[in-house]
Amino acid sequence: MPAASYEFRLGSFRCVVVSDGTYTYANPALTFFLDAPEERLREKLLANGVRLDRWTEFVSDYSCLLVDTGSRRVLIDTGGGALSSTTGKLRANLRSLGLPPEDIDTVILTHAHSDHVGGNLGPDGRPAFPAARYKIARSEWEFWTAEPDLSRLRIPAHLQKVLASVGRSHLLPLRGQVDLIEPGEEIEPGVRSVDSSGHTPGHLAVDVSSQGEHLLYVSDAILHPLHIEEPDWSAAVDVSPTEAAEARRRLLRRASSQHALVHGFHFPFPGLGHVGPVGEAWRWTPWAVRTGP
Ligand SMILES: [Zn+2]
Repeated sequence: MPAASYEFRLGSFRCVVVSDGTYTYANPALTFFLDAPEERLREKLLANGVRLDRWTEFVSDYSCLLVDTGSRRVLIDTGGGALSSTTGKLRANLRSLGLPPEDIDTVILTHAHSDHVGGNLGPDGRPAFPAARYKIARSEWEFWTAEPDLSRLRIPAHLQKVLASVGRSHLLPLRGQVDLIEPGEEIEPGVRSVDSSGHTPGHLAVDVSSQGEHLLYVSDAILHPLHIEEPDWSAAVDVSPTEAAEARRRLLRRASSQHALVHGFHFPFPGLGHVGPVGEAWRWTPWAVRTGP
C-alpha cells in the first residue's frame, strides 16, 4: 500500500504528490525497454537488484501532482480511474488533504493514455472536477478525438483498440471545460507546458517554478528511472521511438541545467529526484524523502 500523499514546498508554492494507487505490468522488459540490447539491460537491472529472467511483473506507482500557487489549485493528470481495482484513489486522497473536487481550478492532462486520463470523469460520466478548466495540447486532443491510428505502436492490436477507445471516451465529455493549448504556453503563473511529443503526438511535460526553484513533471516522456541512464531505450507504447528519445534528452538537459526537482509518474512513490550529467547520459538521484515527523 503506497503512501497516499507527499507534501513539500517549491519556492512559495505548496506541492503535493498524490497517489492514485498502483498498477502491475506483465512483461515489463518488453513494455518499458523494447529497444534495449538484452545483455546491457540484464547488467543495468542487476545493478538495481533485479534479475531479468525473473522480472515477470513490475508494480508501478501512479503519482499525480497538486500545485497550490496560493491563488490557484492545479492538478496534473487524473490517474487510472477504473483501469484496475488498485487504481482510482486520487479523488479520495485529495479529499483527505481537505481538497474536494470542486476546489480544483485547473487540470493539466499531459497525454491521453488511460493511466493519465482515467480519473477525468466521475461515476456519472461528467467531468470529475466540475469547476476546473482542463488543459491538453491541441495536437493530443485532435489525435485522440478523431479515429486514432495506433498501428505504429509495438503492442498487440487488441491493446491498441483499448487505448484508442479509453482515450477518446475520457476526453469527449470534457468538451465544455477544455482549453486546447500549445507547448511552451504559460498555463497559470509559474506553471508552463513543455513540448515532449514522441510518447504520444502531443505529450506535454510541465515546468513548475517559484522564486527561482524549478520542478519538471516529465510524465511518460521518462517512464522508468533507467531511461535517465539509457535515454535511447524506447517503450512499446511510444508512438515515435525516435522523437521520444529526443524528448527525453531535451528534458534531461533542461532539468540538469536548471537543477530542477524531477517528478516521474511511474517512478517509485513519490517519484521525486534530481538528474546530473554522466558522459552522454544522466544519473538519477532520488530525493531524500522525510518518512517520519
Ligand atoms: Zn503514457
